[in-house]
Amino acid sequence: MAAGPAPEARSLMDEQTFLDNFNNLKYPRKTYLCYEVELLVGENHIPLDDYKGFVRNEGADEGSERRHAESIFLGDIASWNLDTELRYRVTCFISWSPCADCADELTKFLTKNRHVNLRIFAARIYDYLQGYEAGLRKLKAAGAEVAIMSLQEFEYCWKNFVDHQQDEDESFPPWDNLVVRSEELSQRLEGILQPSVLVFRWPSQVSVTAAHSDIMSQASREKRRDPP
Ligand SMILES: [Zn+2]
Repeated sequence: MAAGPAPEARSLMDEQTFLDNFNNLKYPRKTYLCYEVELLVGENHIPLDDYKGFVRNEGADEGSERRHAESIFLGDIASWNLDTELRYRVTCFISWSPCADCADELTKFLTKNRHVNLRIFAARIYDYLQGYEAGLRKLKAAGAEVAIMSLQEFEYCWKNFVDHQQDEDESFPPWDNLVVRSEELSQRLEGILQPSVLVFRWPSQVSVTAAHSDIMSQASREKRRDPP
């Protein structure tokens, strides 16, 4: 690609903000969303560094109008006017998975913007408001890849979206039980994204939960993802 103008310095998140908000064992009230965009040319993914950064939800503690991070991000994407003749892959690393309304907005965006693929890696599952399961399933049906952040994604975000001041090589400090929690959430998400299955056995010692659990662990074993 021809070299474009030098990108403006993008803002990075400070370390403590990342650690506080992406910790998959905590329940912070804010939502942070880190994003990056790649141009897809054949088999190649070309990073577009002008479209890389983070947003956070607004109004949760300022008393102003509430806007979820996904909604703010979709506003940003619209302002970029990505060329409809080209193909893009947008990856979001989000501290809480989308609520039903945001999943709906993202689904509508994908339906209208067939030139954009979307991947969402969530640190935690946002289950506070009803309808989130159906919302996540709709999002998947619209073509989005929805997954839970593993250690690999936490390390990737730490390297790419966090300000390390003088020490650029500072490695990500994982918290206790990060991996165990990530795997639990991943299994839970797999269960949410699966269509409902009822298994009947004879004699009737049936546990639907157990049946789901079998399916979820199998899905988890089969799960493969591209690195971000
Ligand atoms: Zn939302």
